[in-house]
Amino acid sequence: MNRVRLLVFNAALGPLDYRVPDGMTVEPGAMVLAPLGPRQIVGIAWEEDRLPTEPVADAKLRPLLQVLPVPPVSFELRRLIEWTADYYCASLASVARMVIASGGALSGPRTTTEYRLSGLEPDRMTAKREQAMDALQGEQATIRELAELADVSDGVLRGLVNQGVLEPVEVDIDRPYPKADPGHAQVELSAVQQDVAAELVTAVEKREFAPILLDGVTGSGKTETYFEPIAAALRAKRQTLVLLPEIALTEAFLRRFEDRFGAPPIVWHSSLKSTERRRAWRAIAEGRAQVVVGARSALFLPYAALGLIVVDEAHEISFKQDDGVRYNARDVAVMRARFEGIPVVLASATPALETMQMAESGTYRKLDLPSRFGGAQMPDIKLVNLTEEKPEPGRWLAPPLTREMFKRLEKQEQTLLFLNRRGYAPLTLCRNCGFRFQCDNCSAWLVEHRFSRKLACHHCGHETAPPATCPECGEKDCLVACGPGVERIADEVAEILPDARVAVATSDTLSSPEKAAQFVASAEAKEIDVIVGTQLVTKGFHFPDLTLVGVVDADLGLEGGDLRAAERTYQQVAQVAGRAGRGEKPGEVLIQTRHPEAPVIAALADGDRDAFYEAETEARRHAGAPPFGRWAAIIVSSEDEAEAKEAARAIGGTRPDHPEIAVLGPAPAPMALLRGRYRYRLLLNARRSAQVQDVIRQWLGQLQFPRGVRVSVDIDPYSFV
Ligand code: ADP
Ligand code: ZN
Repeated sequence: MNRVRLLVFNAALGPLDYRVPDGMTVEPGAMVLAPLGPRQIVGIAWEEDRLPTEPVADAKLRPLLQVLPVPPVSFELRRLIEWTADYYCASLASVARMVIASGGALSGPRTTTEYRLSGLEPDRMTAKREQAMDALQGEQATIRELAELADVSDGVLRGLVNQGVLEPVEVDIDRPYPKADPGHAQVELSAVQQDVAAELVTAVEKREFAPILLDGVTGSGKTETYFEPIAAALRAKRQTLVLLPEIALTEAFLRRFEDRFGAPPIVWHSSLKSTERRRAWRAIAEGRAQVVVGARSALFLPYAALGLIVVDEAHEISFKQDDGVRYNARDVAVMRARFEGIPVVLASATPALETMQMAESGTYRKLDLPSRFGGAQMPDIKLVNLTEEKPEPGRWLAPPLTREMFKRLEKQEQTLLFLNRRGYAPLTLCRNCGFRFQCDNCSAWLVEHRFSRKLACHHCGHETAPPATCPECGEKDCLVACGPGVERIADEVAEILPDARVAVATSDTLSSPEKAAQFVASAEAKEIDVIVGTQLVTKGFHFPDLTLVGVVDADLGLEGGDLRAAERTYQQVAQVAGRAGRGEKPGEVLIQTRHPEAPVIAALADGDRDAFYEAETEARRHAGAPPFGRWAAIIVSSEDEAEAKEAARAIGGTRPDHPEIAVLGPAPAPMALLRGRYRYRLLLNARRSAQVQDVIRQWLGQLQFPRGVRVSVDIDPYSFV
């Protein structure tokens, strides 16, 4: 009899066997519809020997219902799914879900009805209708999506449809995308860029696995250079995937891409409308999508003919996903390239130590762009020692920095102040009794946001209005803000330079691609004199008249105590420094610090990247930290504190006795309470040769936990919270 084994998207079900009815052919990787009890489920046909399960007698098998009208999941992608699940100790089901990513893509009509405002007025205006009509100006989407956008019920919008205020538009969801043209506007590359581009083009033409580190200083033209292998892939009719660390960066990238290739690439991120998602997914799976730019989730899509992967700003920690499948998109990108047999380019001005090590050992090829394009000089970097040059009480900008800011304003040049802290102040307390505002759900202070008048938890999103009186002692007007956030720095700038036009750039103020685009446009039009921003402004932006960068507190990142603190500080400060003097005017960077002697700060001041990597490499080697050893974390959580503690103790009590693996903990996690769950953590430090994943699987596999307990494994963790 003809049988088939399915990988289904619910891990609890395990693999399921079905009968293939006469006349139906099911290729490996085919997506199929199958009966499960009274329901229907989607599954992927998988190789039986790679998906072991209890055998089921032929007679008991139910027949498949249908092969879905989409291309099968390729051999290479099936192997990537297996590798990812295995390496990150995740279920195959949860990895496969990232491949599907669009339920709508698997079936359904090829046209859909969307709605938009017709210009007509309703016969009766209500508050809800008015709200909807204001919010939906210029929008076109399904009723569901419009209702969400306008924050009204479907019913309100249906009423407007009946009145003709919203008109239906039939759209072909699978309509083709504009074609990118490799020869549209070729840029003349510098000699160095040309050499690097030629190597990359050759790698694409060869069609074999080639991991490449594109190591180029900020402003060296990494993007311009990697556009050439993209052009080569276009010519060869192969697809390219460009991974960016943040959606906020996509806008600038889209513009440059369109300038070069005459059409925008296809964008993929988590907040796409469902129809856009379906359209993109099908174009990708059918090979019609030429170039896809996206956040890390774009990595698992079923590309029909992938020819090149680029990971831009490859050192960024946002490539690490910290919920669901805890994977690092940079590392999985390299694996995907390996399975597909194609080149992968990791572009960065401050590569991760792990990546540098791979390059040094010859595993990755390293191509260098050592200087800025067009003769622009690297900025001049100076330290401001805050223990000597003190800001005035209650202020955060020291005199040497404010003096320079003053000069920039006079010369009509721009300043960027970097502080990686959103909001007004990281801590609010009562002057009278010392009460501190803390989140009810998390071990975290509430952060005051003055623009939006609220106290917010940056971990769970909990928000509350600042009370008029202290909840503890009842005193009026007694709340004091402690420490600076970007909003407070912006206030300080407004006091020091009353004529300056100040903009705050954070994920709060640049929350949508439109707002990000507006910000870029006004900075380029020089409608902004001083930008105060978080890590969001450290990369991607190119403002030629920005000549001064001030790092408000370089020590901030070093205080966290996490494994990569020094590296991250180095990367952030080097990146933000890279925003200065990108045009003809030279740039200057002032770094405020209380620890000028710290190796990372000294290396930044000397502009000596090699010194930093050397010192950091030694420190890591000494600690058995990556890339010399490996870390893994086990996080146990429950809404019940005693239950979490008990489960953590049970895990700790059965720890394996392994000569190459040290187990630390269990201990309360630094964020001992997060989103209402109590958390304990164990850390594993292993030699490279140890099979950590196997050890963890065996260890946890023997244990049983109460329903409310969640145990998650984080391989190569970044965030130690
Ligand atoms: P990076 O990504 O290395 O920081 P970019 O690719 O953003 O550098 O390039 C920095 C600036 O120099 C951009 O404005 C870019 O358009 C410009 N540029 C780089 N290379 C060239 C070139 N060959 N011709 C014209 N402009 C270039
Ligand atoms: Zn919280």
